[in-house]
Amino acid sequence: MTATIIDGRAVARRMQAEIQTGADQVASRLGRRPGLGVVLVGDDPASAMYVRMKQRACERVGIQSSASLLPASAAQAEVENAVRAFNDDADIDGILVQLPLPDSIDEEAVLNEISLSKDVDGIHPVNLGRLGMRGRNPTFTPATPTGVMRLIAESGIELSGKEAVVIGRSNIVGLPIALMLTNADATVTRCHSRTVDLPMVTRRADIVVAAVGQPELVKADWLKPGAVVIDVGSNSLPDPTSDKGYRYVGDVDFEQARDVAGWLTKVPGGVGPMTITMLLANTLKAAQA
Ligand code: NDP
Repeated sequence: MTATIIDGRAVARRMQAEIQTGADQVASRLGRRPGLGVVLVGDDPASAMYVRMKQRACERVGIQSSASLLPASAAQAEVENAVRAFNDDADIDGILVQLPLPDSIDEEAVLNEISLSKDVDGIHPVNLGRLGMRGRNPTFTPATPTGVMRLIAESGIELSGKEAVVIGRSNIVGLPIALMLTNADATVTRCHSRTVDLPMVTRRADIVVAAVGQPELVKADWLKPGAVVIDVGSNSLPDPTSDKGYRYVGDVDFEQARDVAGWLTKVPGGVGPMTITMLLANTLKAAQA
C-alpha cells in the first residue's frame, strides 16, 4: 500500500486566501484590520523564530500584529500587565502568549489573564476545560490540534467509532487533540513516555497522531495497514548534505510509514503550516464576532 499524502501546505494556502478575503471585509466594516497581540518573554531562539513566522503570516493575510517583547528577567506582574494591555486594546482581537514562559513565571496565572473572547490560541484554562466537558463550547480551540482536525476533515476521513491513538499528552498538543478526537466520537487511547509496549497499542489504531518530539519514532510495524497517520512532530537532525546543515523530520519514519499507512502527513509540509493558519483563522473569527 502507498499512503495518500495529506498536503498541509495546500490546505493552508487555500485557507489563508479565504482568511485574507475575510480580513479585507473586516477592514472595510470596522475601518481597521483584525489585530493579533503577541507576548514573548525571554530570548529563546526557537520561540523568537515562531513569533516572527506568525507575524509574517499575519502580514501576508492582512492581519495587523503587535508584539510585547519582555526580557527573561521580567516580573510576573509585567507579563500579566502585557496581557491586560492587549485585553484593553480595542484594536487587538486576539492574544497569543508564546510558550514556554521562563521558569520564573507562573504560566497558569498569565494564561488566566487572557480575555476568553481574545483567547485565539485556545489555551486559557477555562477554554481547555470546556473542551473536555460535555455540552460546553470553548470560545477557541488550540491552533495545532485544530489544524490536525481540519486536515483529517479535509481528507474526508470519518472519525465516529474509530480507534484513535494519540502519542503525547502535553497541554498544548497531545491533550487537546485527544479531547477533540473524543468529541468527534472516536475511541481514544492516550499514550506517553510510561506507556508499556507502545507499538502494540498503535497497531490497533485506525488513526495515529504522533506528538512526541522523538525523531522518526513510529515505524512501519507500529501501524495497522491503511491507518491514518498524522505527524505533529518537528525535530531537527544534523544533515551535512543540506545547505543549512540540518533537516526537519517528524515523529514518524515517513519512508517506512508510507508503505503501510492509508493516509499520511509530511514533515515539513503537514501539520506545521496548519498551526499558523488556525491561529490566523481564530484571529479573524474574533474580529468578526
Ligand atoms: P512535549 O515535550 O511537551 O510533550 C511530549 C509528549 O510526548 C509527552 O507527553 C511525553 O510523555 C511524550 N513522550 C516523550 N517521549 C516518548 C516516548 N518515547 N514514547 C511515548 N511518549 C513519549 O512536546 P509538545 O507536545 O509540545 O510537542 C510534541 C512535538 O510536536 C514536538 O516535536 C514539537 O516540536 C511538535 N510541535 C509541532 C507543532 C507544529 O505546528 N507542527 C506545534 C507544536 C509542537 P510524558 O508526558 O510522559 O513526559
